[in-house]
Amino acid sequence: MSHELRWNPLLGTWIIVAGHRKKRPWRPEEKGIRCPFCPGGPETSGEWDVLVLPNKYPALSPEAPEPRRKEDPLYRAERAVGVCEVVVETPQHEGDLCDLPLEQVHKFINALSEEYKRLSGMDYIECVMIFRNKGAVIGVSLHHPHSQIYALPFVPPRIEVELRRCKEYMERHGRCLICDIIAKEVDEGTRLLYENKHFIAFLPYFAMWPYEVHIYPKRHVPSIDQLTDEERLHLADILRVVTAGYNKLFDFSMPYIMVFHQKPTKGDYPYYHMHIEFYPPYREKDKLKYAAGIEWGAWVFTYDGVPEEKAAELRNAFRRALEQIEHLGDIP
Ligand code: ZN
Ligand code: ZN
Ligand code: FE
Repeated sequence: MSHELRWNPLLGTWIIVAGHRKKRPWRPEEKGIRCPFCPGGPETSGEWDVLVLPNKYPALSPEAPEPRRKEDPLYRAERAVGVCEVVVETPQHEGDLCDLPLEQVHKFINALSEEYKRLSGMDYIECVMIFRNKGAVIGVSLHHPHSQIYALPFVPPRIEVELRRCKEYMERHGRCLICDIIAKEVDEGTRLLYENKHFIAFLPYFAMWPYEVHIYPKRHVPSIDQLTDEERLHLADILRVVTAGYNKLFDFSMPYIMVFHQKPTKGDYPYYHMHIEFYPPYREKDKLKYAAGIEWGAWVFTYDGVPEEKAAELRNAFRRALEQIEHLGDIP
């Protein structure tokens, strides 16, 4: 069984080959099998609010075997070392982040911060990716509210690109690119969605997905562990509002991919500014957006619609959501 990193020499990227992941459970509750994240199971006993578990089918592991093809200069391979974890966000079996009390989401953010710090300290970890997949169309295999952490032994290409752009901008202008993007969005105002004391959410000018939303800390902070506790509370608040807003948009539970972009774990990145990106796969109530020919084949996105119009739709949805959930901020 193959378990290794394979180098794509054409794109200069790593692929995680994980032959053992084929036997992953697929929606166990549909087959009458008990949810592995509900309290009282073999891994979930005792009292807990938020639970960090090892991923049972890890794409990366600290004990990954030596690759068979070690010396080949063209078809390179490396050990698939790393850590894959699941963060169970609540003992409750159903729901989105907005369905959890603010205090519970705050505890979840604190758990993410602790894990980020712990994993960052491991010598072979270069980048800690935190993400949350929601919805059957995204391919989620377990319904119980959870996020995932992949602690990678390399800096992934998307982070590498953002770091390079931020570094170049800092060298040229002496300022943080992301701080300037935030100021620009605030100045134009047409794509803003929500703001509290420490965070702001908008559909960026340069969105690739129709309802893409980014969340930025107002303070120039490179990673979650450097947020204050009050900032983490406000991050919890804005995550609740964004997910509640999404669920109001088409009045169904909106699937999405949520990803944290943070600085790599080794070295200093004073020019980088952490943020969270949401990519929901819908472009209309009954139409999915696929990363198809031009998007995936060329990495060029076509935006179906106009970002300012989609932002206005989202703002209306956020307004309706705010009538129903407690919140610390408002629509700017
Ligand atoms: Zn469950
Ligand atoms: Zn900044
Ligand atoms: Fe980003």
